[in-house]
Amino acid sequence: KQESVSLEFESYSHNEQFARVVAAVFAARLDPTVEEVEDIKTAVSEAVTNAIIHGYEEGPGIVHMKLTIREREFEAEVRDEGVGIADVKKAMEPLYTSKPSRERSGMGFSFMEAFMDQVTVDSKPGRGTVVRMTK
Ligand code: ATP
Ligand code: MG
Repeated sequence: KQESVSLEFESYSHNEQFARVVAAVFAARLDPTVEEVEDIKTAVSEAVTNAIIHGYEEGPGIVHMKLTIREREFEAEVRDEGVGIADVKKAMEPLYTSKPSRERSGMGFSFMEAFMDQVTVDSKPGRGTVVRMTK
């Protein structure tokens, strides 16, 4: 038995809050601890931020988020149809960032991996990126 909800929104930073709140409300069905909810919100927010600032760096697009509960497991899928990632393994290394700056530390994927049980990334340059995380 499984159930899902989906959210699609334009790639503006101010929309990130929708993703966080929807993920928290949906995950609440599993009666999580406060810490588990915070972990999910942080991980979702990192993936959504990446879709907005990296995926759609060449112009705005639609961010797709699908949340699923399967038995006792929560899954978040965050997808963009943006520029894609040429080398996923390298992109996921701690401290790797293609945009060194004061705000970007290259820790987004590391946070996702630390706060969720499993993180997988599928990406095609020029086509987009899908991040799937379970907890
Ligand atoms: P931080 O998350 O600490 O602000 P960051 O976003 O650069 O910095 P990560 O989130 O770990 O660090 O991502 C590493 C790199 O992977 C990014 O710099 C970017 O090059 C690439 N990347 C991540 N997500 C996407 C995406 N959705 N589309 C295209 N490139 C991406
Ligand atoms: Mg990031």
